[in-house]
Amino acid sequence: MQSKLPHIGTSIFTVMSQLAVKHGAINLGQGFPDFPMSAKLIESVNQAMKEGHNQYAHTFGLPALRQGLAQKMHDLYAATINADTEITITPGGTYAIYTAFSTIIEPGDEIIIFEPAYDSYIPNITINGGIVVPIALEFPNYTIPWDKVKAAITNKTKAILVNTPHNPTGKVMSASDMLELQEIVVRNQLYLISDEVYEHLIYDQIPHESVLKYAELYQRTFICYSFGKTYHCTGWKLGYCVAPEQLSKEFRKVHQFNAFSCDTPKQVGIANYMSNKEAYLSLGNFYQEKRDYLRVLLKDTPLVRMDSHGSYFESYSYAAISEESDKSFAEKLVTNYGIAVIPMSAFYHDATDHKVIRLCFAKQKATLDAAAACLQKLNS
Ligand code: PMP
Ligand code: GLN
Repeated sequence: MQSKLPHIGTSIFTVMSQLAVKHGAINLGQGFPDFPMSAKLIESVNQAMKEGHNQYAHTFGLPALRQGLAQKMHDLYAATINADTEITITPGGTYAIYTAFSTIIEPGDEIIIFEPAYDSYIPNITINGGIVVPIALEFPNYTIPWDKVKAAITNKTKAILVNTPHNPTGKVMSASDMLELQEIVVRNQLYLISDEVYEHLIYDQIPHESVLKYAELYQRTFICYSFGKTYHCTGWKLGYCVAPEQLSKEFRKVHQFNAFSCDTPKQVGIANYMSNKEAYLSLGNFYQEKRDYLRVLLKDTPLVRMDSHGSYFESYSYAAISEESDKSFAEKLVTNYGIAVIPMSAFYHDATDHKVIRLCFAKQKATLDAAAACLQKLNS
């Protein structure tokens, strides 16, 4: 059979997690928490099942959950979002992004993304007939080169994708980035896919610049979220897309004949639990403490930190100690040092290699201690 994705192999997250299992290594590669989620939320979902919420949910998502989300967006970003027409619950954030691409892309449309990029974006665009236009964030600070973005726009450009806080770099977009973006999107009548799955995982007192704060930009945007990040349950694969009515209407046409609807008990469970605002308002401090804990542990290793201000991740350069490729350095770490990490080149279409590895700090202290003990061995 002719492959529709001839250049796509197995996701780096699967590869590294499998290697971690094979070598019995500490896994700071794939991004997921290794500590328990809220017992109350689990109970809330159990309760929903016991009460008989076990049949198809509303195709756009449980109304009570959508209302709770609209209220949350009002509280956090002063946005007025219509729960009936602008929110669609999806089986995860990745699905929301994929569906947004399916909704807008016509064959040959160009989509601008920034690299390093979360690994699903390129195949999502390609399979939908789009042409990926990658723009490299400026190394080593990973700033967005707005001049290059303006220069990359052609009459085929259909959309831009942004991700803040950013996976894999932990970079967050500033208000001035958002104004640049708004100007470009509006002037060129593009669409925007805004991946905001890490909206609450933001540190150092920096505010999250959601598209919801930029009314004109929002009019052309699909914002994608994941409950997995907010409630420490990446395995639940539940998320949502927020977009203005006209865009949501088209998004829902694609969604209704793909997933049709999402897991009912989990939607009921979250709807009943989400009035507990502390659960998400505390996430910034909670994860910042983990990031800082790992920073201290790694201070005396030869790895050089590249500051992260958000997400589950912080990156480190090993350029001072090795010239080997980041892929072989990561392989060496997992086989000889007992720790799995992600080589940053996996997030570039052309495997750009700056000798940087990504570490996930969404882990218990004991895991971070064990990981640091492995990395300390780089000193000898
Ligand atoms: N975008 C980014 C940047 C992510 O890191 C993730 C987490 N894998 C997602 C989207 C998708 O989240 P989900 O697991 O809900 O599909
Ligand atoms: N978002 C996670 C990461 O970047 C993992 C997602 C996945 O395994 N597909 O590591």
